[in-house]
Amino acid sequence: MATDIVPSLETIVSLCKRRGFVYPSADIYGGLNGVYDFGHLGTLIKQNLRTLWIHSLNSPRGEIVQIEGALLGPEAVWKASGHVDGFHDPMVDCKACKKRYRADELDLKKGCPSCGNNDWTEIRQFNMMFKTQLGASESAATLSYLRPETAQAIFTNFKNVLSTNRIKIPFGIAQMGKAFRNEITPKQFLFRMREFEQMEMQWFCKPDQAAPEFENWVQQRLSFYEMIGINLNKIRTHNHSKDELAHYAAAALDIQYEFPFGWKELEGIHNRSDFDLSQHTKHSGKDLAVFDEVTKTSYTPHVVECSVGLDRLFLTVLFDAYHEDTIDGETRIVLKLHPAIAPIKLAFLPLTQKLNEQTYKVYEFFTQKGIACQFDTTGSIGKRYRRQDEIGTPFCITYDFDSLEDGCVTVRNRDTTKQERVQIEDLAQYLGF
Ligand code: ATP
Repeated sequence: MATDIVPSLETIVSLCKRRGFVYPSADIYGGLNGVYDFGHLGTLIKQNLRTLWIHSLNSPRGEIVQIEGALLGPEAVWKASGHVDGFHDPMVDCKACKKRYRADELDLKKGCPSCGNNDWTEIRQFNMMFKTQLGASESAATLSYLRPETAQAIFTNFKNVLSTNRIKIPFGIAQMGKAFRNEITPKQFLFRMREFEQMEMQWFCKPDQAAPEFENWVQQRLSFYEMIGINLNKIRTHNHSKDELAHYAAAALDIQYEFPFGWKELEGIHNRSDFDLSQHTKHSGKDLAVFDEVTKTSYTPHVVECSVGLDRLFLTVLFDAYHEDTIDGETRIVLKLHPAIAPIKLAFLPLTQKLNEQTYKVYEFFTQKGIACQFDTTGSIGKRYRRQDEIGTPFCITYDFDSLEDGCVTVRNRDTTKQERVQIEDLAQYLGF
């Protein structure tokens, strides 16, 4: 019997720790606030999400190419992008208990949520970029920043990409990689981190195409969430009103997910107009306009951006896949992950250790195809099923004494728990590999 429970944040955090999806970074030294490491299973899930994301960007309207930009950027880039002057969050401290808050996230009149006092410092603007010096000199010439978003490397490389790939507008540049924000209050586990990964795609098009392309990309991104099996009742969109728009945006829409702590942004889609290329043209002195062979005129391309946090998506996928149900009077936790996201695709379980060798041969056949498998020999079969359910393994394959005679194994389906005997030679086809 399935119970539709909404897991709490604590439930997901504890599952991640227990099963080695995610560890607090520098755990043995007490951790680092807002910074996490990913274990084996977490790393596999992230790899799967990256692959699904990049494939989901394919468009009949133009090509997508990839880049991997540097994490460090000179001050000039962040001046041009507006981050040095504008990437601020308002910060306020409680004078009594010294706790720090984002002023836009609380009602100051109600007092400090931690100690109840109502004695605040002035609200100050806090720049969220991590500043650093390149080289030994303290001079301003070496000042640089860890990137707070991946997008700028795409804009600064726009002409390099255009001249080294055989592509024409419209086309997209996609990038996956780390971004760093000194969030005032990192919280909700992977939801708001100080070091996180973004998956961004900037679509370059003619100015009159930006508005229709914005609509196209909203639809394409929504289909992505459907394709990876997210419950669509928990997905909604939020259109930004004029006063919500970021300084660079002509239009913006958030794709939100209903977390246990409320509806929150999962992905942002922006019509950035020609803001970024024009800014970089102005600040660098390099012309980033393109020549239109048909009209014989130059223009600065407009940009539609789709930007999702990989870690936030990881968290979403776990919340969405988490289920508890009761089978034969026993409660199990099961992650109903889309098979393409599941970190382990197949678990091979010899009924007893005496059958390890024969089972291993079948296991090896699949690992050699590059399929992520586990070979688990310890505990009762029931216990081993539960372990695999908890990490979302779609199929468990049990090799028993009958297998020696009939050449069949038992395939158990994670979601239905139904079991079927399948000939070993038909197994790959049965499983769809
Ligand atoms: P938020 O309003 O939640 O701070 P944002 O509007 O600043 O997000 P963007 O700058 O549009 O976010 O970044 C694009 C995506 O990157 C977000 O939709 C989110 O998935 C992810 N992201 C942003 N900040 C963080 C963070 N601190 N930790 C984890 N993911 C983040």
